Amino acid sequence: METIKNLSAKLASGETSAVALAQDSLAKIEATKNLNAYISVLNERALAKAAESDKRRAEGKSLGVLDGIPVAVKDNMCLEGTRTTAASKILDNFVAPYTATAIEKLEAAGAVIVGKTNMDEFAMGSSSETSYYGPVKNPLDETRVPGGSSGGSAVAVASGTVACALGSDTGGSIRQPAACTGVVGLKPTYGRVSRYGLLAYASSLDQIGPFGTTVADCATLLNAICGIDPHDNTTSTREPEDFGAKLDAGVKGKVIGVPKEYFADGLDPECKAAIENMLKKMEAEGATLKEVSLPHIGFAVSSYYIIATAEASSNLSRYDGVRYGYRSKEARKLFDLYAKSRSEGFGKEVQRRILLGSYVLSAGFYDAYYVQAQKVRRLITDDFNKAFESVDVIASPTMPGLPLKCGMNESDPMAVYLSDIYTVSLNLSGLPGVSVPCGMAGGLPVGLQWIGKPFQETDLLSVAAATEKLAK
Ligand code: GLN
Repeated sequence: METIKNLSAKLASGETSAVALAQDSLAKIEATKNLNAYISVLNERALAKAAESDKRRAEGKSLGVLDGIPVAVKDNMCLEGTRTTAASKILDNFVAPYTATAIEKLEAAGAVIVGKTNMDEFAMGSSSETSYYGPVKNPLDETRVPGGSSGGSAVAVASGTVACALGSDTGGSIRQPAACTGVVGLKPTYGRVSRYGLLAYASSLDQIGPFGTTVADCATLLNAICGIDPHDNTTSTREPEDFGAKLDAGVKGKVIGVPKEYFADGLDPECKAAIENMLKKMEAEGATLKEVSLPHIGFAVSSYYIIATAEASSNLSRYDGVRYGYRSKEARKLFDLYAKSRSEGFGKEVQRRILLGSYVLSAGFYDAYYVQAQKVRRLITDDFNKAFESVDVIASPTMPGLPLKCGMNESDPMAVYLSDIYTVSLNLSGLPGVSVPCGMAGGLPVGLQWIGKPFQETDLLSVAAATEKLAK
């Protein structure tokens, strides 16, 4: 698998050109079509952008390390003039009239967007099976899912069509597919990256972040996409920093928190062993392991699914068959237009979430569910704050076991929700997290999730880079 670093060096030395890289990427996308990782492939646009990059370089005006590098982006991010579907029938014919800030920043750095990747419909899911365009396949084991909801972006990287990609993470959707496909995936701190142009799922939890084959590449992408954005007033005013500045720092002297609740029942023994083995190696490198407790973590999944569905039911009310997207041809009256367009346009999982979200926000149940869930969210955040008083970073599994078998979303949706146990609490608390491959179980890669203090991505990536080195 290629890295941004290598490709960029080859571009700088003249060994290759941006057009050649784009052609190679597009050919690989064609050759791996069976994985269903892409919804749209932007052949012409990518080749034109690549030619612009080559021209810049020839004139000595290269924009830096990302100039001419092919990148894939999840299909819930708007790119002006291209189809943006969120993997939903309701947006099958939607052409974005503007570009998401994160993509705009990538393009301003010279990156070449080669395609829009497949995903769970509206990013709702952990398996990348609920797409209107069919499920994404895991290249490592086609009987298992690639994780979700950004499964297409993870597979785009894992199958070598691109060196890096963007995904979005509302409750684990970058970290889980990274773990399931053996790549690195980073969810930045809430507010680090603009959500402008990201089709909203749950606005207080959504965050865009990078996938790469290395921690260094994730740092490079985050450097490019982060920052304050007047279009998203939840973006942080912090000065930009080089998130790759401490990649060689090692873990000597670091205090690693190990939550006792995370390494208890429910975690697959082989995955547990792989993670514990890595933690031992870190100890040998001079890190200190310290048991911490997150007493309210057992309520994370319930509180997440109340808050996420509540926000989703509100965010998705805009798809009404009037303003944009799919419109039912059967409707004769206004109410029918709404009801039929939405019933025909949204898939089963999305409808389930809208129903659940409307229910928990309804007058009779708002206090019992929504308000209660928000209180739990505060308690979980307090648990993390307390743990971070005595540790630098927290270790956790990304997934409770091997990637789920295909079809479970249909047969046992509750089991799929529960597989989010290790990831959702970071979104509830806004914390950054990164999944890095740390070993193998059952012949498949195991992801170790590092949880960082708010806005401490540089330190977080430093520990992730140490993991990557020790896993080799
Ligand atoms: N699996 C979670 C959900 O379905 C998280 C999805 C995501 O992060 N977008 O809500």
